[in-house]
Amino acid sequence: GTRDTAGATIFDSILDGKIPADVVYEDELVLAFRDIAPVAPTHVLLIPKRRDGLTQLQRATAEHKHVLGHMLAVAVPAIVAKDGLDSYRLVVNDGAQACQSVFHLHMHIIGGKALTWPPG
Ligand code: 5GP
Repeated sequence: GTRDTAGATIFDSILDGKIPADVVYEDELVLAFRDIAPVAPTHVLLIPKRRDGLTQLQRATAEHKHVLGHMLAVAVPAIVAKDGLDSYRLVVNDGAQACQSVFHLHMHIIGGKALTWPPG
């Protein structure tokens, strides 16, 4: 296939249906599912189905503009509407020192409670 399987992650197992996930949104480009260790009532992970080199956001090139725009302009609005959120936070932990643990680009969508700022 076209998926970059070198350094496959737990998200590949979710995409393949090998481990279950609580899917909240899906379309041809992206999958969104609830985080297994939620930090708030809504804690959704939004990922591109094809990692396509996007182990992390800092690998993005102009070739990724469509999927990245789709995540922000299509998928996030659908997910926050589903959970009825009018306030929420988007987080990309980009790199190990920023607490990235899964090297398949993902956006955290966090909400459903009053959030504090700044983060640690
Ligand atoms: P990161 O630390 O890379 O920004 O975020 C990875 C997230 O994936 C963490 O919040 C972690 O709880 C979540 N996670 C790890 N393994 C699984 C899993 O098997 N299922 C789900 N739903 N979330 C997972």
